[in-house]
Amino acid sequence: MNDEEKIDGVPIVLAASRAEANEYDNNPFSAFICTFPKKLSGYALRNYMNNLTINEDGTAQRTIYGLRKIESMLIDEFGEDNVVTVHYDQLDRFIGKKTKVVGISTMDPMGLAYVSTTYNSLIGFGGEALNAFEFEKLVTHPAIQKYKPKVIVGGQGSWQVAEADAQEKLGIDVLFQGEGESDLISVFRRLMNDEQVPSYYVGKKPDRKNVALIKKAASYGMVEIMRGCGRGCHFCSPTMRTRYSFPIEHIMKEIEVNIKGGTNSIFTVTEDIFLYKCYKNFIPNRKEVTKLYKTIASYPGVEHILPQFFMIKNFLMN
Ligand code: SF4
Repeated sequence: MNDEEKIDGVPIVLAASRAEANEYDNNPFSAFICTFPKKLSGYALRNYMNNLTINEDGTAQRTIYGLRKIESMLIDEFGEDNVVTVHYDQLDRFIGKKTKVVGISTMDPMGLAYVSTTYNSLIGFGGEALNAFEFEKLVTHPAIQKYKPKVIVGGQGSWQVAEADAQEKLGIDVLFQGEGESDLISVFRRLMNDEQVPSYYVGKKPDRKNVALIKKAASYGMVEIMRGCGRGCHFCSPTMRTRYSFPIEHIMKEIEVNIKGGTNSIFTVTEDIFLYKCYKNFIPNRKEVTKLYKTIASYPGVEHILPQFFMIKNFLMN
């Protein structure tokens, strides 16, 4: 990127809040602290907020997995020169007069995630969660105020903005809910062409065989091993998604990207590792789960695996 482009900005700029994009010295449990009130968590994590790692050109070295998925699709559609993913403190280098769309992915923009509400009630004093503070800081960044690109917000927590009736106040043009593979590119294309897009957009379910691979490394070396759940808990959105386990070859390609991106740990994203290629009635497929984790563990450069969630009941069955 030359100096003139830096001043003019990039047509599509993607970002996540400092609280969500952070790796906290590769400790994912620190991310939970961001759900606590800012007066507590902001102090505890103050040294991390200004230390997100960047590449030589100022782009994010690693960021949240969902943003990397969207970035990959956008690069395929609009080309690498027109899409950039950056951290909060680099936004003024990349948002400029050529910037048409800023895309933000978030898991807990209003501090309404179950972890935020549960932990905050347990610790007994309230106040704005650090996640909510950092999201507002991002979405109202001075460069966004100055150049006024269209702002689209998606991700697992985008529902919170609608629930809090905060879309207009925060200057968000489009709230995108659901999986992005079917519709998000057409929404971006319309925004790039200054066409009208509904301010609240629910994406259709994608064909899981067409899910793009990430092209650049994700925080904590995240890779999605499956989507959906199917157990049907009435409050839960993952259960709305058709359960699908990604083939090992697909998963290993993303692990390669992450290892090349400088991590030595892999975080397998799933609602329950024992749902991976499970049998009818959620009976765990021991053979496939073992094969997957052995394959990941034997990949050169992988030193740690973070398995995310599993159900104790399924663990005991195995
Ligand atoms: S992901 Fe968890 S909460 Fe959601 S449907 Fe499955 S078991 Fe229930």
